[in-house]
Amino acid sequence: MSARLLLGEPVAEKVRQRIGDLVTQLATEHVTPKLAVIVATDNQATNWYVSSIARAATKLAVACEVLDLGEATAETLAETIKTLNADEQIHGIILQTPLPQGIDASSLVKLIDPAKDIDGANPVSLGQLSVGQEAFAPATARSVIEILEHYRIPLAGKHVAVIGRSTVVGKPLAQLLLQLDATVTICHSRTVNLAEHTSRAEVCVVAAGQPHLLTANEVAAHSVVIDVGTHVTESGGLTGDVQADSVQPLVSALSPVPGGVGTVTTALLLLHTVQAAVNFLERSRRGECQMSVGR
Ligand code: NAD
Repeated sequence: MSARLLLGEPVAEKVRQRIGDLVTQLATEHVTPKLAVIVATDNQATNWYVSSIARAATKLAVACEVLDLGEATAETLAETIKTLNADEQIHGIILQTPLPQGIDASSLVKLIDPAKDIDGANPVSLGQLSVGQEAFAPATARSVIEILEHYRIPLAGKHVAVIGRSTVVGKPLAQLLLQLDATVTICHSRTVNLAEHTSRAEVCVVAAGQPHLLTANEVAAHSVVIDVGTHVTESGGLTGDVQADSVQPLVSALSPVPGGVGTVTTALLLLHTVQAAVNFLERSRRGECQMSVGR
């Protein structure tokens, strides 16, 4: 037996279609959804990632402004976030990491208006998620859910093991899974006997940042494995947190790296931006905020 591959591309395409429909609706109201990405480092990987978001946005008629602030200070970054919060033409804000040395990202993401926090970086967004209120989840965590739902992997009542407890992936993902009635075990770097937990799970999501951490020894036969990890190999390719060669013959389905979770993330960032624009329009109709004419 070989696992079914849970490819990200058909999922991303479905997300892009949802974006297209919403962009068309917004155009009838003269609203162009707009994302602002704040960049404060000259890092090759970051530059590549940010230009890929900008390219994807252009294709989908979502405006995207990249604010390249160079080696900015914490004060400049804070002021920029506040200006973007107040700018009614901006619907989504991303503060791209890494930041210059010595700047604490956690004190800055707190400043992003939760209504524009389309990558779920503000702790308020995570808090809202954890009490079941509407909020933007980090796009990577939501990509995992979109893949599982697209391929009709049942979650209600199922035992899901999440390896990783970061605020970007593991914790918000656990909250999303709970909302879908899964029984969730969160494993982390201090978990004793990882295999004891993962080998009992019907679905295992690996977001540990450790290349090939999950092998055939740690998974249950016929389970579903989602690989969130991304690591650049010596040959310049990409690999994940799952040892795919050994796991694939044993499990029923596996999301590959590359071609899995990462493929969906950018599309979801843009969907969140468009949803933020729709929310803004609805709030302005209810008189909760003002919208200038002809935007
Ligand atoms: P992180 O370093 O912030 O967190 C890693 C987590 O894994 C921690 O909670 C840690 O306790 C746990 N962990 C580490 N070693 C472990 C071990 N041996 N056993 C069990 N748990 C262990 O990383 P992150 O930001 O959450 O990212 C995780 C992975 O996902 C990375 O490979 C990253 O590149 C990837 N990622 C991919 C995307 C995407 O869109 N595809 C986006 C974000 C992150």
